[in-house]
Amino acid sequence: MTSKILILLTALAALASAQQKKDAGPPVLTVQQVKPGLFEITGAGANTEVRVTRDSLIVVDGKLPGEQIYNALMQQIGSIGKLPVKTLIVTQHHEDHAGNNDRFLAAGVKVLAHRNQLRDLATYKVEHVPALPNETYSGGSHTVKEGGVTVQLYHFGRGHTDGDSVVYFPDLKVIALSDLITVGSTGPRADYEGGGSFVEWPAVLEKVLKLDFDTCIPGAGDILTKADVAAFKVKMDTLVSRAREAVRSGVPKDQLMAHIRTDDLGWAPRLASVDPFYAELQKTAPQK
Ligand SMILES: [Zn+2]
Repeated sequence: MTSKILILLTALAALASAQQKKDAGPPVLTVQQVKPGLFEITGAGANTEVRVTRDSLIVVDGKLPGEQIYNALMQQIGSIGKLPVKTLIVTQHHEDHAGNNDRFLAAGVKVLAHRNQLRDLATYKVEHVPALPNETYSGGSHTVKEGGVTVQLYHFGRGHTDGDSVVYFPDLKVIALSDLITVGSTGPRADYEGGGSFVEWPAVLEKVLKLDFDTCIPGAGDILTKADVAAFKVKMDTLVSRAREAVRSGVPKDQLMAHIRTDDLGWAPRLASVDPFYAELQKTAPQK
């Protein structure tokens, strides 16, 4: 009886979800000014940033894949300024950030990302793998100069993935941190298949905090302050040290995540499998 009810509930849920998709209509995107010359567009994937230069628009992250989403995004970008988009910076390879790489490329836009994203995309398992960026940088930093504006990209190591770029707008003292930070009860996710690492993540945030900024745009959620980034780093430090201590004290792999206390952090870390996390903890905290 119970299983029949469960099947019925599952079927109803699937129906409701299909109906929701059908009724979804055009994607709802909203634009707001972060600081003069810098805008944020929310909805339909990760937050998108638009930096206005003298003669172009520099866009950061192009949202989930889809013609409707791309068109809605371009409409919002067009409302910011009647200038051509010359560069799309892609902060990571996941489809909520890189989903429309192909459409930007087709429009003649330079799609710029860290070199590691080429490898991340080659092993990325989704239905529509985003198109490869047509310009990459390797090493720790890259400067974009357009129309009198400088945008600084930093790759500080492994965190959410191994191809994350931190986008710094030095004259405005703003950073776009992508999913190297999460907001509210959404826990951080280390994509180990995409080269991510919880253990190395805090060192990335330490380097971020050395930059001179007062405003941080996360990959998802509301705009943050530098103090919010510092507080998030403390939580990441706490998470990793608790996990390390658990492994050191002999907590078996299958009990690790249940063993790590997270109620005071306000979120739980997200990961597809505990194996790579446990392995890197063992490497850095050998058992006594
Ligand atoms: Zn991501």
